[in-house]
Amino acid sequence: MEQKPHIAILLCPGMGHLIPLVEFAKLLVHHHDLNITCIIPVLGSPPKAMKAVLQALPTTIDHVFLPPVILEEEEIIGLKFEVQTILTLTRSLPPLRDVFKSTQFSAFVVDPFGIDALDIAKELNISPYIFFHINAFTLSLVFHLPKLDDTVSCQYRDLPEPLKLPGCIPIHGPDLMEPVQDRTSELYKMILHSAKQFRLAEGIIINTFMELEGSAIKALLNEAKSLPLYPIGPIQSGSSNQFDKSESDCLRWLDNQPHGSVLFVCFGSGGTLSYDQTNELALGLELSSQKFLWVVRTPNNESADAAYLSDQTLDNNPLAFLPKGFVERTKWQGLVVPSWAPQAQVLSHGSTGGFLRHCGWNSILESIMQGIPLIAWPLYAEQKMNAVLLVEDVKVALRPKTNKNGLIDREEIAKVVKGLMVGEEGKKVRNRMKDVKIAAEKALSADGSSTKALSELASQWTNHPCF
Ligand code: UDP
Repeated sequence: MEQKPHIAILLCPGMGHLIPLVEFAKLLVHHHDLNITCIIPVLGSPPKAMKAVLQALPTTIDHVFLPPVILEEEEIIGLKFEVQTILTLTRSLPPLRDVFKSTQFSAFVVDPFGIDALDIAKELNISPYIFFHINAFTLSLVFHLPKLDDTVSCQYRDLPEPLKLPGCIPIHGPDLMEPVQDRTSELYKMILHSAKQFRLAEGIIINTFMELEGSAIKALLNEAKSLPLYPIGPIQSGSSNQFDKSESDCLRWLDNQPHGSVLFVCFGSGGTLSYDQTNELALGLELSSQKFLWVVRTPNNESADAAYLSDQTLDNNPLAFLPKGFVERTKWQGLVVPSWAPQAQVLSHGSTGGFLRHCGWNSILESIMQGIPLIAWPLYAEQKMNAVLLVEDVKVALRPKTNKNGLIDREEIAKVVKGLMVGEEGKKVRNRMKDVKIAAEKALSADGSSTKALSELASQWTNHPCF
C-alpha cells in the first residue's frame, strides 16, 4: 500500500504563533489526507490557553512534547519574549533531532523563530519549509534585511525617507517591526541571522492572500525566484476552542446588545498597557458613550508585551486597576472581562460592530473574516507595520494619535471610537472591510487562490515524498 507523506510541524510557544500552525495542521489533515505530527517545545509548564488548544487537537494529528526548557529567573530578566522563544527553540534542538531520527518524515515545517532547525532537517534529508505566520509586507522586510544591514549605516528609525519595499506601501523607519529598531541589540542579531537562513527552505507558506497583498506577493515571487511561496490565508482559527464559564458570560452579555453596537477591545494574547494608558482608555471608552466589551489586563509600565508568554489565568484581578467607580458607572454601556475572551466567537457575534486592537496578524485576519472594521493600536513585534498596512493601504482601520507624552488620551480615544462606530469615516472603513471579507471568502473558495496554493503545496509533498 502507498505510504502517505508524513509531515512534522514544530509548534512555537506564544498563542499568535501556535494557533495558526495548529489550524494549518488541521487543514492538511482534513483536506489533503497527510500524516501530521506536531512537535511541541515548551518553556516551563505551558499556560492554560496553550493547553486548551493542544487538548483540542483532533486525534488524527499526532503530537509529541519535547522536554520542557527551563530558563533560570536570572536568564529571563529583561529578555524580550522573542529572545525567550528563540532560546526555547534552540535549546530544544537536540531532542528534536532524536524525534527526526525515530520517525521517517518527508517534510518539516517551522516557524521563523525556530529557523535553526532547518539545518537539522536538511542534514537528515527532510524537506524544510517555513511557515511565516504574518503577512507579505513583513516577509518582504525580512527578505531585504541582510541587504539593508549591509547598505544602511544608521538606525532604521533615523532613515530620512520612508523605506520602499518592492510591491509594498512606503513605510517610515519608526514603524518598522520592533525587533529591528535597535541594531545593537541581541534580538536584532538573532533576527538578522534568521533572515539569512530563509533561503535554506524549499518553500515558504504565508498566512495572507493574493487579493489582500497581491503586489507584495508578486514582488516577493519575482525576487525569491526558485523559492516557492504559498499564500494560503486567511487561516481561520479558534472556532472549535473550548471556553470556560466567565468566557461564555461575555457571549451571553453580547446576546442582549443591539446588532453591530459593541466595540470589542482586546490587545491579543500578550498586550499590556501602562497604568496611565489603562486609565485613559477606560475614561475614553466612557466618554465615547459607545457600547464596549473590554478584555482587561493588569497594567505594566515596563513592557507592552509583558503578558505574552505568561499564564493569563494568574492575572487574577486586573479590574482592580481600573479608575474608581468606572465599572459601576459604565454598567449600562459595557462589560469588562479579565485577561481572556473567546475572541473568534466574539467577533462572529452579530452584536460586535468594531474591534480596537493591538494589530496582531491573526486577529486582523479573524476580523477580516467577520467583516469587522478596526481601530489600530499597535504595541509590539511587527504590529506597527500591520497598522500601516491596514490604515494606509487596505483602508479598513482608523488609527488614534499619540500625544506629546506618548499617551493616547481619553478625548482622542472617544473621538476615534465614535468615528468608527457611528461616524462617516467609520462608514467608509466598514464598507471597505465588507469588500475585503468578500475577497477573503473568494480566496478560500473551492477554486480560490489560497485553496489552490494549499493544494499545490500538498501535491508537492505527495508527489515528491523523500522517503
Ligand atoms: N485570543 C483570544 N482571546 C483573547 C486574546 C487573544 O482568543 O483574549 C486569540 C486570538 O483570537 C488570536 C490569538 O489569540 O487567534 C492572538 O494572535 P494575534 O496574532 O492576534 O496576536 P498576538 O497575541 O500573537 O500578539
